[in-house]
Amino acid sequence: MNERIAQLRRSLDEPLLVTAAVNVRYLVDFQSSNVALLVDEDRVVLFTDFRYAEAARAVEGAEFVQTERSVYATLAEQLEGRIAFEATALTYANWQTLRNAGIELIPRTGAVERLRAVKDEAEVATIREAARITDDVYAAFAEEAFVCHTEHELAWRMEQLFHELGAHSLSFELIVASGRTGATPHGRPTDRVIEPNTTVVVDAGCVVDGYHSDCTRTFATGELPDELANAYQVCLRAQLAGLELLHPGVSGADADAAARKVIDDVGLGEKFGHGLGHGVGLELHEAPVARPESTDLLQVRNVITCEPGIYLEGRGGVRIEDLVVVTEGEPEILSRYTKELVTVR
Ligand code: ZN
Ligand code: ZN
Repeated sequence: MNERIAQLRRSLDEPLLVTAAVNVRYLVDFQSSNVALLVDEDRVVLFTDFRYAEAARAVEGAEFVQTERSVYATLAEQLEGRIAFEATALTYANWQTLRNAGIELIPRTGAVERLRAVKDEAEVATIREAARITDDVYAAFAEEAFVCHTEHELAWRMEQLFHELGAHSLSFELIVASGRTGATPHGRPTDRVIEPNTTVVVDAGCVVDGYHSDCTRTFATGELPDELANAYQVCLRAQLAGLELLHPGVSGADADAAARKVIDDVGLGEKFGHGLGHGVGLELHEAPVARPESTDLLQVRNVITCEPGIYLEGRGGVRIEDLVVVTEGEPEILSRYTKELVTVR
């Protein structure tokens, strides 16, 4: 019996139509971009088209229904009655197709995402491996020459290192943001030539067997002006304060507040304009979240980032991000590359 399906069933009041491909993957280990999974009290039905039929037939514990090219046309013919759907994963057009077929549609959010937030040992091991590769990449990357190269060149070099060191793919388009570019949290690499005596925010991660890693380090290209040097130390203290709170039962809001207080206390509060962290797994951003309005309570085997940042407009940015597993005891920090300020060439 599939334990994930069993757990999901216990939370349902009516059959659930799962249409987020990542959730289908999580529940029955089946990958398709054109898929739906009906989880009912006594059966699981997998809907997908001809291209995926062979793999779909091999899925244990699920009946397979081969659909038209549009899954929803077939669903409209075959489903009836009261059915819950994933409100964040069904387009309005597809909702209309089902509704016009007379199905009574009940919106639900987070049913599968709540399960995904708590990893099993195998998932943690996979993420640990992705984080280890990321650490190795950071160590190798710090040996590169930064000054006089463009952010694009450095980003490309880092991407190569990920592939050379065993990643299946990148988690996201990686960030190499020097000087002024680094003052925006998601500054994409540009053709800016990296200057001496500034910060370079590097945010990157990779995917191993579908699971992501996520890590940010901020490098210095020589001696930093006082305000950036100071921002680095404050950000590091905030990051450590956030890590202290990553225990079961603590709310995402309280963890965020602990880190934010350190930055607030030195008058830089408004320079930290995003949340402290997000869950990581099959998706780069998933439950739980740590930000001021979060009501999520941390649980054992959540995998979450801790990533305060300080962004000084027109001058530069600092962010330090670890990937962490919540445990009964001390949090397990998966990102092991040093958080001391590293000066690059
Ligand atoms: Zn990141
Ligand atoms: Zn992140």
